Amino acid sequence: MITVDLRSDTVTKPTAGMLEAMWSAKVGDDVFGEDETVNALEQKAADMFGMEAAIYCPSGTMTNQIAIKCFTQPLDELIADQTAHVYRYEGGGIAFNSGVSTRLLNGYRGILTAEMIEPEINAENIHYPHTSLVVLENTVNKGGGSCYTLAQIKPIAQLCHDKDLKLHLDGARIFNALAYTGDSAKDYGKYFDGISVCLSKGLGAPVGSVLLADRTTIKYARRIRKVLGGGMRQAGFLAAAGIYALDHHVERLKIDHSHARIMAEALAQAPWVTNVVPVETNIVLFDTTEPADAILAKLEEKGIKANSTDTHRIRFVTHLDVHPEQVEYVVQTINSL
Ligand SMILES: *Cc1c(COP(=O)(O)O)cnc(C)c1O
Repeated sequence: MITVDLRSDTVTKPTAGMLEAMWSAKVGDDVFGEDETVNALEQKAADMFGMEAAIYCPSGTMTNQIAIKCFTQPLDELIADQTAHVYRYEGGGIAFNSGVSTRLLNGYRGILTAEMIEPEINAENIHYPHTSLVVLENTVNKGGGSCYTLAQIKPIAQLCHDKDLKLHLDGARIFNALAYTGDSAKDYGKYFDGISVCLSKGLGAPVGSVLLADRTTIKYARRIRKVLGGGMRQAGFLAAAGIYALDHHVERLKIDHSHARIMAEALAQAPWVTNVVPVETNIVLFDTTEPADAILAKLEEKGIKANSTDTHRIRFVTHLDVHPEQVEYVVQTINSL
């Protein structure tokens, strides 16, 4: 039986080429700054986005949490959409790690505008927490892979600049957004104080994320990573997978997007589907007549794994281990269910 895992783009296994790159990595003690492969990955990622420096971390949760710590003081407040990963899926880390409160906004599929943000910035008054940071997510995971264009980001960056707020990007899937919008990575550095990029999502590395920022911020970030227990030693074996992913798995994201669109078109015709959220990148959200769990059980019987995000909502995520014949099989199964 064909099996297809659509639960997440984190389920990918390293390719033969990636494993080869990992085996042959030159390594050293990265806590001493002596792992040349980690250093190369950090410089490469920073250069790609027009940022000065970078730090390699075990996870995107860690890069986001370090960024929030770097850009706030205890008693501050940050602004984010109510779907934000930093708020919903990082275990309450904003409060725990940084002693910061969160102001949640209701964006459209997680996308915010400067007009939404401006009235939520607190005036200087001892009753109010001091607003110091805005966090955007691109693509928005819970928005179904929805994207900001740089043109949408610019007015937000301008507002943050005018109001003396820092701007951080949770770019777990930033390369999916770039593939969709056609914007250039290099321009992103001009607008954000921090950018977190996951190597272990659509890019297919087994581990790791990078936080990009200016040199001073990254120097402080190394302290925070250490205190969180994220200082790794011969991490170059893992960083090599990240370099390989940046070299070989960025262009191909368009394939994942077209696979997601093909599945969405089939779903739109299925009588047991009531609504398909328009697909922009590699995530398909759809609503079902029956409870999602009942549909998921039927899919599982056919070898297709997926997750629900609500009682009647299912999420499919495409990635580099979903091949064209599997897409065809998913379409056939959708049609026959
Ligand atoms: C996956 C993800 C992260 C980071 O998750 P880790 O599993 O900690 O690497 C951050 N933000 C978004 C939007 C994500 O989807």
